[in-house]
Amino acid sequence: MGSQADLHLHSTFSDGKLTPTQLIELAYRRGVRVLSLSDHDVTDGLPEAFRAAEHCPGLILIPGIEMSTDLPANEVHILGHFIDWQNATFQERLVQLRDSRLLRAEKMVQKLSELNKPVAWERVQEIAGEGAVGRPHIALALVEAGHVTTVNEAFDLYLSRTGPAYVDREKLTPVEVVRLLVEVGGLPTLAHPRDLEELDELLVELREAGLVGMEVYYQDYDPETIERLRAMADKFDLLPLGGSDYHGWGGPQQREPGDIPLPAEPVQRLLTLAEERDAFKRAYRSG
Ligand code: AMP
Ligand code: ZN
Ligand code: FE
Ligand code: FE
Repeated sequence: MGSQADLHLHSTFSDGKLTPTQLIELAYRRGVRVLSLSDHDVTDGLPEAFRAAEHCPGLILIPGIEMSTDLPANEVHILGHFIDWQNATFQERLVQLRDSRLLRAEKMVQKLSELNKPVAWERVQEIAGEGAVGRPHIALALVEAGHVTTVNEAFDLYLSRTGPAYVDREKLTPVEVVRLLVEVGGLPTLAHPRDLEELDELLVELREAGLVGMEVYYQDYDPETIERLRAMADKFDLLPLGGSDYHGWGGPQQREPGDIPLPAEPVQRLLTLAEERDAFKRAYRSG
């Protein structure tokens, strides 16, 4: 039995396989009634998502985004729900971040060629399509070129943060991103925190900057992990939220939309908080 909510999903507008319409249809069919499209550093899929939601009675669609940030030891991702995504300054910032993704992907392709695992830059761009280019697109090109058999293998051998083809890019710090999201009326949530080092210290800082939630029910997190993170969320007075982080490319960690044990109660608290902050008006409620 899955959850009726899924607050973390990707589409073709970043590195997901399904269009926003296909994604929403799939999630809705699976019983999801509260969902957020949260593409990487881009909100351009939201207009399509809102149109798709019109055909799903009872669905609440929350405008969202996932932003990458960096700390010396960790890659930290922050989700922003209920953002005023049409804010012009915010969009300018996102364009800068996407430009830095492009530059970085090109450098990674260069490194791969030096490693004797060439992929065509044009092909990577084709795979990424209109979307914000990301490492999964390079991984797919590596699979296509026959250098690896799976996306996971591409990450394990070349693309992970410690991999030989990895290149850094311009990123904000976690605190900067939380502040940015709060500035556009968003409710920020720390994404997939299981493997982050010094999580306590990070949460103190982020809570002060305006963090409201933390992903506890995420993808393939096991019951012990959920228990530990749930206690952390309680300790820092954060909403224990979650999502499948569905991308659609398969692999052992993948969970289908809504296939996470996220309870209804913290989701309801998120919706109430959005009401209190006058941010709920940016969600779409069908029917
Ligand atoms: P990027 O935004 O270019 O840094 O790529 C980040 C994305 O790569 C994440 O959202 C995941 O979808 C994917 N990713 C990161 N690490 C792995 C991994 N070890 N195996 C498969 N996919 C991964
Ligand atoms: Zn992704
Ligand atoms: Fe992420
Ligand atoms: Fe994600």
